[in-house]
Amino acid sequence: MGNKRVVIALGGNALGKDIEEQKIAVSKTAKVIVDLVIQGLDIVITHGNGPQIGMIQDAMDNLVVRYHIYKQVPLPSSIAMSQGYIGIDLQNAIKYELYSRGIDKKVSTILSQVEVDKDDPAFHHPTKPIGRFMTKEEAEQNEAHGIPCMEDAGRGYRIVVASPMPKRICELLTIKTLLNAGHIVIACGGGGMPVVNENGRLVGVNAVVDKDNVSCLLAQNLDAEQLVILTAVEHAALNFGKENQVWLSDISIEDAKRYVAEGHFAPGSMLPKVEASIRFAESKPGRRSLITLLDKASDGLAGKTGTVIQG
Ligand code: ADP
Ligand code: MG
Repeated sequence: MGNKRVVIALGGNALGKDIEEQKIAVSKTAKVIVDLVIQGLDIVITHGNGPQIGMIQDAMDNLVVRYHIYKQVPLPSSIAMSQGYIGIDLQNAIKYELYSRGIDKKVSTILSQVEVDKDDPAFHHPTKPIGRFMTKEEAEQNEAHGIPCMEDAGRGYRIVVASPMPKRICELLTIKTLLNAGHIVIACGGGGMPVVNENGRLVGVNAVVDKDNVSCLLAQNLDAEQLVILTAVEHAALNFGKENQVWLSDISIEDAKRYVAEGHFAPGSMLPKVEASIRFAESKPGRRSLITLLDKASDGLAGKTGTVIQG
């Protein structure tokens, strides 16, 4: 042991929006990760899948519309697909970067499932729009079949799914075992594939778990020292995008909670990051959460930049 454990949550900017962008983005991301390996950190990586899950569901929706022989692919299956093709690109990019620098270290991607509570109130209030854009008529047809839809930011109608809280990471022991064996582990991609436990059988559900929330749970379960959320901004801000905007550096848990209550962080983007950071920091003394830019990961871990929440 001895090395410090960190869970690093990668946002959309670490992966790009399509397959071509992804190849380029992951090689840059791999450099950031290997810089941290050199500093002696034991690393578990999680990542989002917003654009990727959108693309897969879109493709699968259109497949059913065009060819009637196919059945709709359920959302949890699409999440598993996204974990696979993102994970493999990330894994190979990190392996190549390690090889280039003469470091002998294994990298593994674990397809991960996350148990959610079937009675989670989030199932009654779906908030996450996914898949292709539809006309109002198509949306109404879906609604008539019990599939909730919503208007998405003036761009058309989309299917909307629940975003329940993660309760248990099913592959936790596998992740721990590989981490203890010295691997860099990529896990819980896209928040993990959400499942409910039906008498011992794991059954996928139509939902998307927020990757920031699952990263917080994973960091706690692994007894990590730090939760590092790498995104498209160097700091979280008060009055974001306004004239009186203030970038936040080191803040206490109490201040962070107050800023949340005052509504400074946008739901669906910065709010889950700040909430996950608060939850991790207050879960045990000494735990530290960092939100910063992908390129600033090393500086942030060295205490030079980023928004840090610590008890
Ligand atoms: P990721 O893919 O990393 O999860 P998101 O787009 O979901 O990225 O969240 C990061 C974005 O949150 C930033 O790029 C910024 O536009 C937005 N944001 C919303 N509120 C704030 C805030 N108060 N401070 C900083 N960024 C904010
Ligand atoms: Mg996000």
